[in-house]
Amino acid sequence: MLFTLDSQPQIALFSNLLEKGSSIKHFVSTTFSPTGVSCNLSLNVGDNPDQVVANRANLAQRLGVELDQMVFANQVHGSEVALITAEQAGSGAHALHSAIPNTDAMVTNAPGVMLVTLAADCVPILFFDPVKRAIGVAHAGWKGTVAKIPAQTIRAMQGHFGSVPSDIIVSIGPSIGACCYEVGYDVVVAADKAFGAGNPFVLMDMEHSKPVFDLWKANLKSLTDVGVTPSNVEIARICTKCHADFFFSARNGHNGRFVAGIMLCE
Ligand SMILES: [Zn+2]
Repeated sequence: MLFTLDSQPQIALFSNLLEKGSSIKHFVSTTFSPTGVSCNLSLNVGDNPDQVVANRANLAQRLGVELDQMVFANQVHGSEVALITAEQAGSGAHALHSAIPNTDAMVTNAPGVMLVTLAADCVPILFFDPVKRAIGVAHAGWKGTVAKIPAQTIRAMQGHFGSVPSDIIVSIGPSIGACCYEVGYDVVVAADKAFGAGNPFVLMDMEHSKPVFDLWKANLKSLTDVGVTPSNVEIARICTKCHADFFFSARNGHNGRFVAGIMLCE
């Protein structure tokens, strides 16, 4: 993952998507703010909506797109995947009421539609099929991870666009890492149910008083289980709680959300 320092707002980029050239645009936003104004991009956390929309417009300008090309969902920690059409560009960009309802993943093959996912410790995941020219985004907290939302997104791309899983490039963004993600018994039970008892994703170690859940490895497993090639997956390996100076982290007491997005260029 690379961080741009040349122009504001600062964004981060995945190496595996950058390699695909100018046929797509993608980004992960950061919290870096030279003016001190919050870079929160969520309309759902009580911030002044005018400031949030201004932050989004600023980001869109930085990316060379219109805010009306971005699509936001009302994320609910589920496993639904919405198919987004060109006519839905701009949904949720200016106001919560127009966001795609009750979905944590979106896919499209419409050029010029930037799919966006919000996060602050949950895992933002980007998908690109360079063969069938289709993209996706997913938001995976522990609930989405045990519901295998990355696998659901791959299946949706297969169903809607005829994607072959081994063609799909996947980028797993900054999120809370196993270094910091202590979980309760309910999460351990759910992870065991999803990935089998004794799975390597829930760990006890000497440094933590509670089990820790490795969201990065669990989501990678759910991708490879449906045919994604491991070498096509980039994991940012950046813990949001450890790097709360660059990314919003709910467990570090932040209220805001950062976003990751991807778009097929015309
Ligand atoms: Zn950490």
